[in-house]
Amino acid sequence: MVWLTAVLAVVGGSTGQSPATRRSERLALADVTVIDGTGAPPRPHRTVLVSDSRIVAIHDARTWRPPEQTRVIHSRGRYLIPGLWDMHVHLSMGEASLLPVFLAQGVTAVRDLGGDFSAVRAWQQEIAAGTRIGPRIYTAGRILESPRFLEILARLASALEPPFRDQLHAIRAERIPVGDADQAEQAVRELALQGVACIKFRSNTTAEIFSAIVAAANRVRLPVAGHSPQGISLSEAATAGQKSFEHVFMSPEEATLPLAEVDRFADALKRAQGFLVPTLVTFHATRLMAAELMDQRLKALSQTNEACGRAVPARLADAWRLHRLLDQFEQPQDWVAVYQGAVERLRRLHRAGVQFLAGTDFGARFVCPGSGLHEELERLVAEIGLTPGEALQAATRNAAQFFGEEQRSGTIEVGKLADMVLLETNPLDDIRNTRRIAAVIAAGVYYDRSALQRLLTRSHP
Ligand SMILES: [Zn+2]
Repeated sequence: MVWLTAVLAVVGGSTGQSPATRRSERLALADVTVIDGTGAPPRPHRTVLVSDSRIVAIHDARTWRPPEQTRVIHSRGRYLIPGLWDMHVHLSMGEASLLPVFLAQGVTAVRDLGGDFSAVRAWQQEIAAGTRIGPRIYTAGRILESPRFLEILARLASALEPPFRDQLHAIRAERIPVGDADQAEQAVRELALQGVACIKFRSNTTAEIFSAIVAAANRVRLPVAGHSPQGISLSEAATAGQKSFEHVFMSPEEATLPLAEVDRFADALKRAQGFLVPTLVTFHATRLMAAELMDQRLKALSQTNEACGRAVPARLADAWRLHRLLDQFEQPQDWVAVYQGAVERLRRLHRAGVQFLAGTDFGARFVCPGSGLHEELERLVAEIGLTPGEALQAATRNAAQFFGEEQRSGTIEVGKLADMVLLETNPLDDIRNTRRIAAVIAAGVYYDRSALQRLLTRSHP
């Protein structure tokens, strides 16, 4: 109840309406240029009607007359894009207070790839019920992990002092050890019963375990997201049905993968309609940032962090400090060379016509909620060679396709969920224009610029 009052104070703002009334509000975005996410050219002079959290009509603005009881948002000169999805986050490494920050920056949905499931599920339900403000959450629940990796974590934990030791043990406890095919089957079934939206594996030890995870996920119709699997080639994994490949090529071994194998992977991934999730921002923040700068920024976390535009909550700051501490256990690498190899291969896959998803790996150090996604979009264009339109699709239509939800969300079409971002300038001219947000519509609820500003700056319980 305390929370609900806070929501009313924030959302009600200028109009004094409760979220429930706003939810059913009829809204018209009048005379806007629609970039619908399907790949169609921009359509100027459209009026998009929203009712009951859906897009119910798209009219020619020049002949349209506002119906009764419709709030008209005059949007001439502005651009309407589908709501953005961050397809790789670990929400529970942050705090509930960061959820509105995603929304304030146009991120209306996230794919949570594992962490503290009970916390994430509670937020998911509260957001769906309208009692908490944040992006729609699709979660993998807990991460499947090889027992060998969990043993390494235990050993690392014992080498650390508290509180880092306890933090690492907590991370271990959130993961599901999968040491054979039976455990894989059981873990997937358990997660499916808990209502997860996809399965995430981080490490597997054998081809047999990988196959068991994918087969079990196929049976319960859940898409599989994972790091590059062990014991099986990337092209075999794509053919077997792994739907998204996270941080692919970002390791010393993968960054030198022979180009013939990269091409086989491209063919297999296109046939299987799978996706690449390079999470370029996290590589920049984790691997390419100078050590002195990292330490300097870690010291400044309690003050307003320039990149995040607000102070980093203690829980997230502790996670970032732990990550930095773990650097000492790693072999030194020439990360610039790794990155060059990875980028060369990702560019090749893009030229071959493979589809991408935009994800940040929020939770990882120095990756900020919301703004991280805009940076990822910019890097997908500048570094991998996506067109601005393709980058937008990597954060909209493709995201819905990953979940098999393209009939329901991901584009601006009649009948789709009304998740949209109103921009001041054309993102197809320059992808950095996705940052110039005039308003956000999340499940049909309209947040004007001052409401977004309040979401950005106020802290929430
Ligand atoms: Zn991750």
